[in-house]
Amino acid sequence: MALQLNRDHLEAIRDHGRRDYPTECCGILLGHAKGDHKQVVEVIALKNLRREPEKARELLPVADPDRETERNRFLIDPRDQLRIEKGARAKGLEVVGYYHSHPDHPAQPSSYDREHAWPWYSYVIVSVQDADPKEVNSWVLAADRSRFEPEAIQLANSPHPHAAPVHLSEHSESNGL
Ligand SMILES: [Zn+2]
Repeated sequence: MALQLNRDHLEAIRDHGRRDYPTECCGILLGHAKGDHKQVVEVIALKNLRREPEKARELLPVADPDRETERNRFLIDPRDQLRIEKGARAKGLEVVGYYHSHPDHPAQPSSYDREHAWPWYSYVIVSVQDADPKEVNSWVLAADRSRFEPEAIQLANSPHPHAAPVHLSEHSESNGL
């Protein structure tokens, strides 16, 4: 499996992480699935609903409101999700994945991320340290949901598209995010 995107897509994700620091940003990746590759065509920045705690609580009760905040959780408004899926279909695209940031934490999925993910989709995480976006990794949930597996990111327009220059294969889960 590999996720193909271009430098503009990557920059859009990194910029969003910088803009929303120190809260988590989130968004949707639209594109095409081709065999075992997914090609990103559009990166759509969304509002992290956790920044509106009242609304977020209506949709998804939190176990521990003091620990689960917009700084370490993201939540996509289902109305945004529906609107974007509809728009994507009209353009002949599909949702191929999601992205979010980890402020001051590594670009590795947390156990929370795993519990709220679906198989097949790409989950791109950008680590943002002191408002500065660092590494970007993509992950795919195993079919039995037991773990995330690293997914290569291939940059289009890159002289060596198979070198996966931004991917780091760290397998551990970070705490709390
Ligand atoms: Zn996360």
